[in-house]
Amino acid sequence: MDNHDVVDSDGEPERISWCLGQAGCGAYRFAGFRGQPRPCTHPPRWAGLVLVEHRHPVELWVEYACDLHISRLQAPRELLDRDRAALDRRREQHDLGAAGRPYERPGPIATGAAGRHRLRRALTLAAPTEAQAGSGVAPSP
Ligand SMILES: [Zn+2]
Repeated sequence: MDNHDVVDSDGEPERISWCLGQAGCGAYRFAGFRGQPRPCTHPPRWAGLVLVEHRHPVELWVEYACDLHISRLQAPRELLDRDRAALDRRREQHDLGAAGRPYERPGPIATGAAGRHRLRRALTLAAPTEAQAGSGVAPSP
């Protein structure tokens, strides 16, 4: 897995922002001078966590990313059936909203201290898998 920062054709690091609650990879690219943000169109292959620190209380979201943007996720793992179902649901709700119908907005799975605790636990659980993969990351003591 190549986790280097994505570089655009001009050799400049690609400017990426993240849009929470997308029915796919949450990365948005800014292309060129005053470029409009465009959603990443690569298929999501990874599920992971994103801690939104600038909100009060902080929010922990389950988010999805393609191979290029996996580095935006914490404790990433390959998609499970439940993730595919969640992505389908986000897509359905997005389509309802786009059609002007009532819809359910995606939200964080935890907030505040509970969110930070859940992230720490997920990172601890993810550590042995990374060690097995040979990345040299040891589980935290
Ligand atoms: Zn992407």
